[in-house]
Amino acid sequence: MLYNLTDIFSKEDKAITIDVPYEQDTISNGHETYAILEKTDLHLTLTNVAKGEVQIEGECRIVCEIPCARCLKSVNVPMELSVKEYVKECEIGNPEATEEMPYMDGYQLDIDALLGNEIMINWPMKVLCKEDCKGICKVCGKDLNEGDCGCDSFVPDPRMAVLKDIFNT
Ligand SMILES: [Zn+2]
Ligand SMILES: [Zn+2]
Repeated sequence: MLYNLTDIFSKEDKAITIDVPYEQDTISNGHETYAILEKTDLHLTLTNVAKGEVQIEGECRIVCEIPCARCLKSVNVPMELSVKEYVKECEIGNPEATEEMPYMDGYQLDIDALLGNEIMINWPMKVLCKEDCKGICKVCGKDLNEGDCGCDSFVPDPRMAVLKDIFNT
């Protein structure tokens, strides 16, 4: 959704609070796409803090589906998003400033881009289904949380593997 800020830029002390929907069902980090399972509307406050300056504040909560880093099982990861940005009217149209405000499209605030940006900032470094997730067996692919598979999990030194090949020929 796009929200035009022209009116708020021009009216000093003007502030509005609105609830706007986040219209995306997935989020992509450029490599992978993840499902957004739940989301609340963005509770957004736009305030004219000085002439031609708008403060953007908002909160919402989303739940993303992210695979466990070890066993790849889907994990529901809640995120509390809290947005706080300033936009200066004089920077609109300035290519350098625009790069730092990917959520501005001319005078329009792009709600989806604003939240997408915030989700990426809050993206967890590593998601685990549980702290002690045992992962999957590198040999047979069994989920080791469900029990041991009995494979020899010893990873041979690659130099030894070469020797082994020589002796096998
Ligand atoms: Zn796991
Ligand atoms: Zn195995």
